Amino acid sequence: MPAPRPRNVFAGPYLDRASVLRRDDAWVAAALADPATRYVPVWQSQSLLRREPEPAAVLLERAALADAGPGEAILLGRYQGTTCFAVEWQAPMPALPPAAEFADLRLAAWLLPHDEAGLLAYARAMVYWRARHRYCGACGAPTRATSAGHVMTCTREGCGTESFPRIDPAIIVLVSDGERALLGRQASWPAGRYSTIAGFVEPGESLEDAVVREVREETAIDVAEVEYHSSQPWPFPSSLMVGFRARAGSTRIACPDGELEDARWFTVADIAGGTPGLPPPQSISFRLIADWYLEACGRRLEDERGARLWSAQR
Ligand SMILES: [Zn+2]
Repeated sequence: MPAPRPRNVFAGPYLDRASVLRRDDAWVAAALADPATRYVPVWQSQSLLRREPEPAAVLLERAALADAGPGEAILLGRYQGTTCFAVEWQAPMPALPPAAEFADLRLAAWLLPHDEAGLLAYARAMVYWRARHRYCGACGAPTRATSAGHVMTCTREGCGTESFPRIDPAIIVLVSDGERALLGRQASWPAGRYSTIAGFVEPGESLEDAVVREVREETAIDVAEVEYHSSQPWPFPSSLMVGFRARAGSTRIACPDGELEDARWFTVADIAGGTPGLPPPQSISFRLIADWYLEACGRRLEDERGARLWSAQR
């Protein structure tokens, strides 16, 4: 067995999800009333954190929630021995503890300890999902939260349709021809940035099928072999990125579907020299590129002074 890969950001067993307790109404009520319980607020899809004295997630006591909860709380589980719920904080902007701020987790996650970034990502995903399932998709009646916020149940007698948290699987793949890596860019990205090929899995399709189709649609490259790499929760808003490595069966690039502005083959020297700007370090895309790079030349991409690493300041 090869050595295990490092965990992707937002992934890992950092939390006991306590899923069997979600349907135990008495336990949930006691947990909500317990002053030791903590709440992970989400405000307009932003997460509460502080940058000083060291970056950290900010969890709140019930008393700090005021009108925001906990009636709308969603059980996350037991985090470092503490029961945690997510809660959506409604406008207007709440009064915050000193040094705390709401921030876009996509930009701030790389600052935080791995486990705390994961907890905030989970809370963000649950709040986003629930805010979009307030009405029954089958009959249009209002829903109500059940199972400690993990199910939205239709309130209309005779319907009772249950909606569960939704995840949208997407493949992301580092394609290599043996010497070079295939990277593409969208027109909206910062100038010069390239990334691995990615796209959503469609109904009736396996993950491997999606890899072959997406690479062909976006770059006209035929994929010959597909191998699983790792996965990453990506709650922006609700994706699960499933990462692969693939070997190219052809080398001639085109961008027929227009999703990518450009796609190219990059050598180790190109990447070491800063020709492609690289994706954020917390993304599985960067992990796929860095792992390929290490295998290709024996050096860590993070240590390459000439590489164009992502910068949050841009
Ligand atoms: Zn219904």
